[in-house]
Amino acid sequence: MKIGFIGLGIMGKPMAKNLVKAGHELVVFDRNEGPVKELVELGAEKGTSSADVASKTDLIITMLPNSPHVKAVVLGEGGVIEGAKPGSVVIDMSSIAPLVSQEVYGELAKKDVDFLDAPVSGGEPKAIDGTLAVMVGGKKEIFDKYHDIMKVMAGSVVYVGDSGAGNTTKLCNQIVVALNIAAVSEALVLAKKAGVSPDLVFQAIRGGLAGSTVMDAKAPMMMDRTFDPGFRIDLHIKDLNNAMETSHGVGVPLPLAAQVMEIMQAIKIDGSGVEDHSSIVKFYEKLANIEVTR
Ligand code: NAD
Repeated sequence: MKIGFIGLGIMGKPMAKNLVKAGHELVVFDRNEGPVKELVELGAEKGTSSADVASKTDLIITMLPNSPHVKAVVLGEGGVIEGAKPGSVVIDMSSIAPLVSQEVYGELAKKDVDFLDAPVSGGEPKAIDGTLAVMVGGKKEIFDKYHDIMKVMAGSVVYVGDSGAGNTTKLCNQIVVALNIAAVSEALVLAKKAGVSPDLVFQAIRGGLAGSTVMDAKAPMMMDRTFDPGFRIDLHIKDLNNAMETSHGVGVPLPLAAQVMEIMQAIKIDGSGVEDHSSIVKFYEKLANIEVTR
């Protein structure tokens, strides 16, 4: 199948590469030339705009930073909606506000174009391995039809409900990840200051109830002082903003997510917004005047 792919950043580029490797023909577009060139070298065709990509394909995948980018690329001038043929499908794999997913779904439906919100979890390593976790909202029959294509990029692809449900699920995921990183940070700072090796604490507890995928991925980054993203603090702030807007809209307070959001704001103001979200540990290190090294 000829697939359009728009948004070749940290996540989109390896995801698109996996589709090419699986034998799919791709038409790609990004406002940055670098990743487009890399995909073209692998055999993909270069699109000249989002509308151009849509006019040449029946399935268009988008992987963009946030709601305004998705609205611009899909519904804006020169956007997917201008080129898409009736009967084609857009799968947005970006993490955006569920209400915006529903809005895009509604606008595309007027043109007889289907839409799935299918955000992912797992970060760059799993995007490279093709083992992402995908959570999908939209029509079940469209999900069933495109399941196998999403599976090329993923270890799991789970249908979670109507339009917007994929992104609501992703917000739940981001709350759990943010709080988990903060908990790991708090614990490793305590270990270090109390004179116990953070690495040995990590080794001792990772197999028990406290262990998690987050701990396995982020504790080594904290101890090795490698804060290259990965997942940028700025993007996690975006997700927690979307989580709070959504949760307040349905009448759910998020007391702990709100606290971690303020920690992330402090880190951003300190100049680390472009670092990986494991740099949450730096906030705790400043409070305790110690650094979590191995
Ligand atoms: P990124 O900033 O690295 O990539 C976004 C890409 O979109 C960039 O290449 C940018 O040039 C392109 N883009 C933006 N506006 C565009 C436009 N108008 N036209 C064409 N291209 C445009 O971001 P990322 O880390 O790849 O994240 C993408 C999405 O995936 C985000 O919603 C993020 O929250 C989510 N996500 C990221 C991770 C991660 O670990 N990085 C993990 C899970 C989910």
